[in-house]
Amino acid sequence: MLHTKCPNCGGQHIEGFFEIKNAPIFSLVTVKSKEEALNVPRKDIELAFCSDCGFIFNRKFDTTIDYFTGGYEDQQGFSKTFMEYLTGISKELIAKYNLEGKTTMEIGCGKGDFINLLTNLNGGKGIGIDPAYEVGRQNNPNLTFYKEFYSEKHGGLKAAMISCRHTLEHIHGTYEFLKLIRNSLDNSMDTVVFFEIPQISRILDIQAFWDIYYEHCSYFSAGSLARMFRAAGYEILDLRLVYSDQYLLIEAKPCAKPSTKTFEIEESIEVQRARIANFKTKIEEQLGDWRKKLTALKQANKKVVVWGGGSKSVGFLTNFADIGVIEYVVDINPNMKGNYIPGIGKQYQSPDFLKDYQPDAVIIMNGVYQKEITQSLNDMGCYPEVYAL
Ligand SMILES: [Zn+2]
Repeated sequence: MLHTKCPNCGGQHIEGFFEIKNAPIFSLVTVKSKEEALNVPRKDIELAFCSDCGFIFNRKFDTTIDYFTGGYEDQQGFSKTFMEYLTGISKELIAKYNLEGKTTMEIGCGKGDFINLLTNLNGGKGIGIDPAYEVGRQNNPNLTFYKEFYSEKHGGLKAAMISCRHTLEHIHGTYEFLKLIRNSLDNSMDTVVFFEIPQISRILDIQAFWDIYYEHCSYFSAGSLARMFRAAGYEILDLRLVYSDQYLLIEAKPCAKPSTKTFEIEESIEVQRARIANFKTKIEEQLGDWRKKLTALKQANKKVVVWGGGSKSVGFLTNFADIGVIEYVVDINPNMKGNYIPGIGKQYQSPDFLKDYQPDAVIIMNGVYQKEITQSLNDMGCYPEVYAL
């Protein structure tokens, strides 16, 4: 499968610039045996750049596979750092858009943690839509869940805000999806639309190859996201980077004709092209440096652990599975304990495991948590060498 048209703008000036061969196609599915983990299907990723709108996407993404309904483990709420972030964003949105006591909706709500938090904070009602929602996971009487994909039929549900967090990057038909939501808002032009997604410019600037994996087919920058929102009939109210520039937030409202006002962080297509050129010259060096580091640890018989499961660990380990230096991956999400990492076959352990294991080195998959994790390690009497991505 090779997509020849840009899913954002329909343009056909597409150029491939980075390939990852044989990437596991799932990274968050729950896998209970090593064999099953190693048998997860693999496909190639080829990141491509649209020179008409600046969008980056996997042009080999297989759209015939159902990536969602099989159930997945993606809760981040076990981290204090993350909960502080999410609570802060929620309070900000409630104050900024007068959401006190109102109904809000979330598309792609996962286990429902965010819509539950938001509803508890604003004292209103919440609607969550996600084919992977686990019935009974939330027992808040103010919440209603639809265990299905978002579609036209949900257009009649009224909400003061529609949020969609960490979902758009999993969707190939990005413009169609935005348009689907926009079409439902013709009679509720005051609805605020809030999206949170990872942003690609940081990934390119620091060659964060661990943030490129098969389940993410769409990679937005501030510029490409804003241009698509306007094209789909939204006026952008705010556009910003948060979480050490890892996440991109957009707040918008439907409108008849978007204004020409732009935000400072919207980069031009030329700037993005230069960024890609820089990425291409540096990525091999970055991968080579990690290979050297991990090989040296292996040769010195060091016990090396990855802290932080989920997609980043799959994205990271896919590149170095042959070295065989990492036996365990630790995650604070208790639901992951004992599961195996899709495509990698290593087993998840809870942090407690490290007390006895006493690792020599710990590689933290997200530098945002370095302080929190180092503290946990020290509390357990572990003082390993710490590397943070
Ligand atoms: Zn495009």
